[in-house]
Amino acid sequence: MGFIDDELQEVSKLCQNDVNGSRLVSCVRTMVRVEITKTKFKTIIVCIQFSEDYPHTPLLIELKSKTLSVKLLDGLTEVCEKECKKLLGKAQVLPLLKFIRNFIDENPLVCCYDEITAIKKILENDDELKLKQKYSCIGLKVQRGLYYFKAKIEVPDNYPVACVKLEDADTNFPPLFTRHFLGQGREIARQCVEPPLKKQTQAPFQPSPSLKVVTSFLIKAVKTLPQEHCQLCRQLCLPPSPENAETNETADMHIERLYCGHLFHLQCLVRYMKTPPFHGGKKCPTCGKRIYHEKWGLSEKLAEDRWAHQQARSRELAEGIHEGAVYHRGVEDPRGISEARRISHEVLSKSARHSVHLVETRKVNSKDLHFYPYKTQMTQELK
Ligand SMILES: [Zn+2]
Ligand SMILES: [Zn+2]
Repeated sequence: MGFIDDELQEVSKLCQNDVNGSRLVSCVRTMVRVEITKTKFKTIIVCIQFSEDYPHTPLLIELKSKTLSVKLLDGLTEVCEKECKKLLGKAQVLPLLKFIRNFIDENPLVCCYDEITAIKKILENDDELKLKQKYSCIGLKVQRGLYYFKAKIEVPDNYPVACVKLEDADTNFPPLFTRHFLGQGREIARQCVEPPLKKQTQAPFQPSPSLKVVTSFLIKAVKTLPQEHCQLCRQLCLPPSPENAETNETADMHIERLYCGHLFHLQCLVRYMKTPPFHGGKKCPTCGKRIYHEKWGLSEKLAEDRWAHQQARSRELAEGIHEGAVYHRGVEDPRGISEARRISHEVLSKSARHSVHLVETRKVNSKDLHFYPYKTQMTQELK
């Protein structure tokens, strides 16, 4: 028997044992065909032909996959050819198959090769995308001005059936925005792999790759946020220097994000919510989406009454009358108008926080009482 026949015999005997997850489809002189599978998505079909003068010339290799990137396979083919050149004069098939299997094991990110290439194209000079094959994760750092956002994006073994995980955020954006980046990023990832609750009449749900959509969202959010304006006063929401950003969530200049995605200073939002017209419910002045919180259940009539009452009260305060008497609780105190104003403002701010569709509000316990004392107080005042 010749060299090739001996090798074919050895391959058919040892392949399935020596090469994890391999299936020998054909093993004849004209073609050796082996399917190597780590997961359904990480499957490579290796087609091998013996060259003239084999084994003194390298094997002829073609790699195929229904799921992996063509560019990745092209690159891998070149590397395989180099491997075979190291083995001239010896049997090359089994070492080659083991090499490919090893490559899949050591490079878990092969399953998102095209996505990674696409992400690199949208990054700018000082941004970073570090591949950590050993941990099957990607280190992302995005910057805009003095603001930065860093996170680890893990790619699970059964990707894209399971979605990427967003971990270890490190950023100098105020906490509200960090929560938004992470919350929204994770939600986008989840939607890639979980069917919508509504039953669909069309084709059955198929999980889709989540790395690029999540990463593009993060990059875009970080790049645009420092340039966004308050939808009412039109000032920039974030100061150029991150140290000066307002992190106290009850402060006037704290930034609120509505469900529609638009940003407002808390004080601007409170003013807007408390100013007529109330007819038809309050809507985002920019995109027209409604900004009521459904739990508020405030009628237009009551909103108007409140507004009228608020106007009357500020007139009283401005005129310096009813000092302390305006408030039934806690303000009969000679510190007078400024204190009354402070408390008035505090109460309004808190209630407003619960009157709008804030992203975070979903996490707030509905028993949270900020709104209710206000309602009670207002009702008492209106009587
Ligand atoms: Zn504003
Ligand atoms: Zn809006």
